Amino acid sequence: MLKLQMFINGEWLDSFSKETDDVINPANGKIIAEVAKGNEEDARTAIDSARKAFDSGIWSDLPAAERASYLFKIADKIEENASRLSKLESANTGKPFRESEYDIADAVDCFRYHAGLITKPDGQTYPVSDPVQAMVVREPVGVCGLIAPWNFPLLTGAWKLAPALAAGNTVVYKPSGVTPITTVKLFEIIEEVGIPSGVANLVMGDGATVGNEIAENDKVDMISFTGSTTTGRSIMKKASGNIKNISLELGGKSPNIVFADADFETAVDYALFGTFMNAGQVCNAGSRLLLEESIHEKFLDRLVKRAKEIRVGPGDQTSTEMGALVSKSHMEKVLKYIQTGIEEGATLACGGRRITENGLEKGYFIEPTIFIDTKPNMKIVQEEIFGPVLVVQKFKDEAEAILLANDTSYGLAAGVFSQDGAKALRVIKKIRAGITWVNAYNLAYNEAPWGGYKQSGIGRGLGTFGLEEFTEAKQININLEVEPTNWFGN
Ligand code: NAD
Repeated sequence: MLKLQMFINGEWLDSFSKETDDVINPANGKIIAEVAKGNEEDARTAIDSARKAFDSGIWSDLPAAERASYLFKIADKIEENASRLSKLESANTGKPFRESEYDIADAVDCFRYHAGLITKPDGQTYPVSDPVQAMVVREPVGVCGLIAPWNFPLLTGAWKLAPALAAGNTVVYKPSGVTPITTVKLFEIIEEVGIPSGVANLVMGDGATVGNEIAENDKVDMISFTGSTTTGRSIMKKASGNIKNISLELGGKSPNIVFADADFETAVDYALFGTFMNAGQVCNAGSRLLLEESIHEKFLDRLVKRAKEIRVGPGDQTSTEMGALVSKSHMEKVLKYIQTGIEEGATLACGGRRITENGLEKGYFIEPTIFIDTKPNMKIVQEEIFGPVLVVQKFKDEAEAILLANDTSYGLAAGVFSQDGAKALRVIKKIRAGITWVNAYNLAYNEAPWGGYKQSGIGRGLGTFGLEEFTEAKQININLEVEPTNWFGN
């Protein structure tokens, strides 16, 4: 069995308390690893190590090209180990192997993208009214606390570590205790490529102890958090003590709107992909399907038929199209939402139960589930379920589609399917969401900014926007005519 330790100041360590947590394979409930369980003391040691490394300039003073060369090496090593990492990712998260392979390849690309980006032209100059050369340069923020959820473990590591390190920051990374395995492997790679001790620290443990310490500690300059809106709200409060920079990638309940003039098969296909990929445990999942009244019935017939055909099973079987949910407690939470939907009066068009046959009874599997006859104020329509559960809503026209689409507290993502380009763009522009697609869903690119409106977050990850978040802008004004102002004393 794997024994996973924390990585602090260049050393692999157990926690001070020597406590550990079990890591479970959600496809069969078996323990696959034992992970060090840190607490506040471990978090403080990691933070002190990152603070010392930042203040020494050992990383931030390196030429950008040199930092980039480390990132390129990390990318190469992930790529060399892609198959092993994909297997571990599937064993820990339950996701199908082909999804893990995709995530790992995306993580490689993410490190390469940021390695390239950091060496590109940067900064600005301003024509000002004095004989002054005015310019802005970008500098690292300092010590960054990076806190991650469990749904895309290695990929989230890449999304946070690549820009933070590229920009010259030092970091304390806290993965979710549910899925820490590939993050530990990523830190083994960070050690192997020789990133100086103290620059990248890994600490494991609960949110209430380790996460809380990172959010509160005055030696941390920035928090980059991905997780639920509830936790994000608490982190925001905790981070206010020393006015940390803050970036929050939170939850969603995103609308996927299909107009009658959409390409039918494409829209059905993306409705499935947008909902059931990673068993719906995706922040930007198109978990509300808005269908134009005239195609409602025909669309549902096809969608339900195809949803029933999705092959659910263990992530390591090549035939599997949808895997287990990440943990028993999360499965129970999703099943409770399904029960709530039934009690609220929605109708199950398919699915709705835990799968307890065909050898899946020890795992945490739920059938692809679709609710119809929903009302906008139902809990299952308003709240993020984070499982393989789709709620369908009906609309009469463009105006009603926009109204329904914007009618939650979230604003992460949205899709519009229509062959009328002007209409699709009109609708997209009216939707309060940060990530949108026309005639597609779920696509994500390292080049483009990622983040939400409303209660789906603050700031943007990825692209040039994401890199900027890990920097501070410094104004430099150089007087070109060195003489007194004579403002006083005349
Ligand atoms: P979560 O909020 O429970 O936990 C996320 C991380 O925060 C974990 O590492 C956890 O240990 C830590 N944490 C928990 N309580 C904390 C506290 N009080 N202080 C500091 N840290 C704390 O989220 P989760 O269940 O792991 O992940 C699912 C959520 O993540 C969903 O809401 C999903 O939408 C969201 N998510 C968002 C994005 C995005 O890009 N917007 C991407 C992936 C997941």
